[in-house]
Amino acid sequence: MSLHVILSIDYEVYGDGSGSFEDLLLRPTDQLLGLFDEFGFKLTIMAEVAEIYAIKNSESHHTISSQIESQLQRAKRAGHDVQLHLHPAWFNAQLRDGVWQLDFAEYGLPYLSEEKIRDYVERGKAYLEKLLTPVDPGYRCLAFRAGNWLIQPERTVLDALCDQGIVIDSSVFDGGRSKVGRYEIDYTEAHHCMLPWRASPDNICRQDDAGRIIEIPIYARRSNVLNMLTWKRIAKQLRLRRGMKNRSSGMEIGRRSGSMLNWTYPKKFDFTRMTFPELCDYTRTAQRLAADLAVPCPCVAIGHTTDVGDLGYLRKYFHWIKQQSDVNINTFQGYHAISSLT
Ligand SMILES: [Zn+2]
Repeated sequence: MSLHVILSIDYEVYGDGSGSFEDLLLRPTDQLLGLFDEFGFKLTIMAEVAEIYAIKNSESHHTISSQIESQLQRAKRAGHDVQLHLHPAWFNAQLRDGVWQLDFAEYGLPYLSEEKIRDYVERGKAYLEKLLTPVDPGYRCLAFRAGNWLIQPERTVLDALCDQGIVIDSSVFDGGRSKVGRYEIDYTEAHHCMLPWRASPDNICRQDDAGRIIEIPIYARRSNVLNMLTWKRIAKQLRLRRGMKNRSSGMEIGRRSGSMLNWTYPKKFDFTRMTFPELCDYTRTAQRLAADLAVPCPCVAIGHTTDVGDLGYLRKYFHWIKQQSDVNINTFQGYHAISSLT
């Protein structure tokens, strides 16, 4: 059956609150939307609503926040998807001497009180629907990705998502495992590396027919940790560490377990970091996984607006995709409409 690649991009500045909204959100997203439109493909923007909230409340950021809102509306109007991403440390962020100070006590959504979790999820969904239904009356915020993939312990977050009518989560990536400070994820027992499952309310990695949230994981494959040591990634990790003053960071790096030989890490299908051959390689494996299935099969790729550079490799990949008769580029909203899962 056909493969539905969902190219989902986290729409945000750097994790420590640094970086220009113009350079890291507006410009790269315009570049991407231009390329997607050229090919008739749809992008899935995972809008980090907490930072948009913070800058909307700052007088000095009025112009930029309205540019962000019109960009999201423009994208929606053109048929792209916009769904919810949350880094709660932004909700109480303060601008001091031109620098955003995030509230790192609120870094991990699942670690907040139930009341706060519910409030933040509700605010995020309400914000997107208020912004986007005027340009697309059929729009619904139905998918979520947790900031830094932190969705464990999951019970309260999943409840809050369900109660807001959000039906899809895409935070899990098979093999993900990290413990930094009190923040911990363990996705080593994920039900599948790519195919969706109905998530158990007590264990997002487990399939449970009674679950109300569909997990569509970020497609990931195991790779040797040494392969990820690129300067681009090291610089990003160092920036995050500096910003958080060692309170927590590096969630992306798999935990070292035992000897050097066991240093594998889950390499996500990342369309803003991978090369053209890597993108094709992941897609081919996904095509093989989808081939035997009787239903349309989603395959989630992640990206970050902070990582967008020259898009020559992506243009090449899009040409390649056009030649694959069994591969579509879809969105969470688009996949939800054709799937019988939710
Ligand atoms: Zn993020």
